[in-house]
Amino acid sequence: MKSSPSYSKIALVNLRAQYSTIKHEIDEAIANIVSSSQFIQGNEVLKFEESFASFCSSSIQAYCASCANGTDALELALAAFDVGQDDEIITVSHSFFATVEAVVNQRATPVLIDINPKTMLMDESKIEEKITSKTKGIIAVQLYGQTCNMEEINRIAKKHNLFVIEDAAQAHGASWNGQRVGTLGDLACFSFFPGKNFGCYGDGGAVVGRDADLIKKVKQISCHGREKGEKYVHSSFGRNSRLDSLQAAILNVKLKYLDQWTQQRREIANYYLEHLKDLPIILPYIDPQSESAWHLFVIRTPESSMRETLFNDLKSKGIGVGLHYPIPIHKQPAFLNLYSQPQLSLPHTESTAQSLISLPMYPELEKKQLEFIVGQLHECCKAYQQEI
Ligand SMILES: *Cc1c(COP(=O)(O)O)cnc(C)c1O
Repeated sequence: MKSSPSYSKIALVNLRAQYSTIKHEIDEAIANIVSSSQFIQGNEVLKFEESFASFCSSSIQAYCASCANGTDALELALAAFDVGQDDEIITVSHSFFATVEAVVNQRATPVLIDINPKTMLMDESKIEEKITSKTKGIIAVQLYGQTCNMEEINRIAKKHNLFVIEDAAQAHGASWNGQRVGTLGDLACFSFFPGKNFGCYGDGGAVVGRDADLIKKVKQISCHGREKGEKYVHSSFGRNSRLDSLQAAILNVKLKYLDQWTQQRREIANYYLEHLKDLPIILPYIDPQSESAWHLFVIRTPESSMRETLFNDLKSKGIGVGLHYPIPIHKQPAFLNLYSQPQLSLPHTESTAQSLISLPMYPELEKKQLEFIVGQLHECCKAYQQEI
């Protein structure tokens, strides 16, 4: 029997592969922080905020306030708009749990709308019917590295006097109409969780925006409501959510490579798109106005029974597949406990959750590995069709 090339395992994400390419610089940056003993704030954090702001700036100048993680970034952004009890925030159920968790933690009510089944992103045509006198803002989730229809979302927001927050945790470097994520709404929230496109070696996050005063407010809230430069003067009750100097130093090293890594992700995505196009599966659709950062490459099967088969088959071949996300937020026990009725029905969100599979996606994926993944997918689809 001819043995196919076998890989003990191709992970969904391989962080060690990336570390090995920049080990020298990273180790040095970490050693410098440790010997300086400047662990909180300081130069590396300031430098990072400036460089990440300029990374997000395209035609518009961006500002950046770093914080402890992406979930905090969302909470801080909501707090900067004084979101609290009785406020309603419109967002999607097809996202990572934190998008909605942040709204709940601000004591506001999440109003969840369905996705466009073509893009798997917020269906902007469903926003207006959900706007009430309590609606304060919209969180547009730039899921998988793709951007929502920001033109339309901003138009609706402006008409009804709402703010727009981008949940950009998966979309560092993505763009809409040539303009980068970070300045597409009023504030944008990033996560630097290790597995994101731009990840540190622990938790990290940032809020970016084009309004310097709003970013200043975020900074103040994230650091005990402190006045800039005044260590023991607190003008508001804030919280403690800061980016460690160690993480900032790591991110400062990695930012230089981010565009190159995103380019590699785009090449991998193009390879998948080209070599999977004849299979009976649904490939990701990218709006021509959007340039994806390809955080995840998510395929869908026409039926959920095929999803189970394909997922298990690929896994058994050592291919690191994932589900992002298998249970919509409005079906989560936490959500059902809090908002039991009326039961929400979001048909596209629900069917998408049952049909999606994420394929391995990270910049260091090799051609041979891609060939293997694609080959196995072809075989699995063939086997499935013969079975039914
Ligand atoms: C990861 C993620 C978050 C939360 O970021 P953390 O840094 O893990 O707190 C929020 N929203 C989305 C869409 C995410 O993918």
